Amino acid sequence: MLLIYCPYCEEERAELEFRNGGDAHIARPTNMAEISDEEFEAYFFLRENPKGVIFERWRHIHGCGRFFNAARDTVSDRFITTYKAGEPKPVLDAEPKTPATVETYEALEGAAQ
Ligand SMILES: [Zn+2]
Repeated sequence: MLLIYCPYCEEERAELEFRNGGDAHIARPTNMAEISDEEFEAYFFLRENPKGVIFERWRHIHGCGRFFNAARDTVSDRFITTYKAGEPKPVLDAEPKTPATVETYEALEGAAQ
């Protein structure tokens, strides 16, 4: 079972208590009525979806109910850190190389050859 640390409850809880809220740190345009359809599309729909570390919003929906942010590795599904909403994006060291991450990368590279 995947455990997620809620920075408000200050404890790890089961994944089933949380809901993903999409990408974190998306800035809403201040001139929404003036932007073009293409600019609105880029703000509202388009995301990078990289392989590796991403920053996401999460909500402890069956706990305190609050939103917080998390840095998560999409390859290993490992949560690197969580932090309260409104706090700046943490500066992470170089891409984490957990055993699961390394094994997954090696498996993908081997499958591609
Ligand atoms: Zn909580």
